[in-house]
Amino acid sequence: MDSLVAVEKEIDKALDLFENFYDGVDQDINQIIDHLVSIINDLTKIESEQTYKLSADDSISMCREQVRELIKNYSDKHKDLHANISKIGKVIDKNFVPDYGNMSHLNLIDTAEKKMHLNQAICEHLLRSGHLEVCDTLVDEAGLVQQIDEEKKRPFIQMNFILSKLKEKDVYPALEWCQMNSKELKAIHSNLEFKLHRLRFIQLVQQGPKAQLEVLKYSRNFTQFANECSKEIQRLMGSLIYMSSGLDNSPYSSYLGAELWEEIEEEFIKNSCKLMGLPVECPLDICINTGCKALPALVNIVQVMQQTQCGHILSKDELPIEIEIGQNYRFHSVFSCPILRQQTTDLNPPMRLVCGHVISKDALTKLNNSGKTRIKCPYCPVEQSPSDAKQMLF
Ligand SMILES: [Zn+2]
Repeated sequence: MDSLVAVEKEIDKALDLFENFYDGVDQDINQIIDHLVSIINDLTKIESEQTYKLSADDSISMCREQVRELIKNYSDKHKDLHANISKIGKVIDKNFVPDYGNMSHLNLIDTAEKKMHLNQAICEHLLRSGHLEVCDTLVDEAGLVQQIDEEKKRPFIQMNFILSKLKEKDVYPALEWCQMNSKELKAIHSNLEFKLHRLRFIQLVQQGPKAQLEVLKYSRNFTQFANECSKEIQRLMGSLIYMSSGLDNSPYSSYLGAELWEEIEEEFIKNSCKLMGLPVECPLDICINTGCKALPALVNIVQVMQQTQCGHILSKDELPIEIEIGQNYRFHSVFSCPILRQQTTDLNPPMRLVCGHVISKDALTKLNNSGKTRIKCPYCPVEQSPSDAKQMLF
């Protein structure tokens, strides 16, 4: 953030200079043109008279002087501008690390299968965000025809169509989708359909007294929600009092908020993804956001590790320091062995002892080093056989 602010400051400075530069230039040029025109006029008028010619010569040389001064002035200003623009480049270089090359884990995407998964994730992201054509091109170029077939694309195409209609404030395609999936939506306790009806109802109320009959007819749609949303339905009915004067200055003006439409789009995406068995947030977005948050800290560690020749940061399964990326991005629990004080891995998983205490597999092996058939838990005196310990999965 600080880096962005520093660069923005320089850009603002340069933009100010630009503005100043162009501010006066028209005026200055016009002045000189006026001057020249008046000289030409004078010359044509007094062609024959010698004395006047002399004074015209004077004013020409004066004008020439004026132009010369102006050019010098502008060329100085231009130099200033140039210096400021090149300063922006320097500030960018200083504030942003251009080389993230040594951050990448070379073995991360080393097989055709992994590459395919990455391309698949990109395709899924493109489908979710409505870039269907770009996705088609990637599918062709990456040879993913089998993974991303028409069958897989169809729900996304439908989702994007409904979203585009919601953006136009048309709730009907979304309502139709709700009715088609009513069973599944009920199972996930969704109230999307009610919210859509609510938006449509308010749209009708805003049309004023001419839509009275239609509003009353439409309100029948709420009967199916009478149990769960009775209070909200009562409130909606209350808004009818303001039908002729409009809801803008009424106690019901909150129903007109633009954020309700944004919310409904988000809610629809959430519901739609849930029914498709997809995570609500796009996995690629999550990866990139997490990476962006962690990158500055990682860059610092890599620099320190390179200076102290401690090896590469990603050569082990765990990072040498903890990087705070926020609660939203925590998906897996991490277990650190209380005996060996190290994070468990696939090869060294956490093991639950009979007494309920958990230690890492390496710690268990060490306890059992002497080849005894029974060991004592390091936390409580319960004796047990090491083979009774069970691997824990997080
Ligand atoms: Zn124990």
